[in-house]
Amino acid sequence: MLDFSRLILADKPINLDFNRLIERTTPPSENTRHYLGASMIGSECLRRTQYDWWVDPEFPTRTLDIFERGHFHEALVRRRMIAAGFEFASNNRLHFTSASGLFRGHADGLLLRGPELPGLAYPALWEHKCVNAKSWRAIERDGLVGLYTVYLVQTVIYQAYLDVMNPALFVCTNADTCERLAFLVPFDAALAQSFSDRALAIIQSTMADELLPRFTNDPDDWRCKMCAHRKQCWG
Ligand code: SF4
Repeated sequence: MLDFSRLILADKPINLDFNRLIERTTPPSENTRHYLGASMIGSECLRRTQYDWWVDPEFPTRTLDIFERGHFHEALVRRRMIAAGFEFASNNRLHFTSASGLFRGHADGLLLRGPELPGLAYPALWEHKCVNAKSWRAIERDGLVGLYTVYLVQTVIYQAYLDVMNPALFVCTNADTCERLAFLVPFDAALAQSFSDRALAIIQSTMADELLPRFTNDPDDWRCKMCAHRKQCWG
């Protein structure tokens, strides 16, 4: 007879205790930056962008490990690309700072030379993301639209501020299969200008102690459920 009361392995005490132990190893957050980062400004929620700047996000260990996974895959793809003949600029070419140091960014890479690829001209900005299979398929199908606009904005802001107007080479790794998707992101001056203006407006409001609006009135919106500032935002 089938035993429907049988616990799955994830619900067994040893697993629950093990994960509690791991969770306790998470160091206190040290993520508060004293500047607005280019990776934040594409969010549809102005308040989230402001919190990302000023408030320590609360991430479970699992989420921090997903960030680590991103760093790992970025380094791996970079190694593969160097072996394939791409030449990256040194780190000091990847930073920009603006608005008296309150708006800053750090690109993943700048390609100086490399193999011929259709449409790719050097120098070219290089950005890498590692995403789950569902997101990877969505980007493969539709590019950087919708949820991934934040990546698009980040890329065009780096192009504008680092003065690299050639199309950027965007590489996206599927975390499940390690498939890699490479495509070009043309520079969009109007988009870069509008988000640069947005960054300055956010800085001005924040310096004036103005709390920016939420993008929704629904704390149960799925995007709020994924936001590291939900507790702070909705009390
Ligand atoms: S919880 Fe929702 S509304 Fe509040 S900052 Fe995060 S995304 Fe914005």
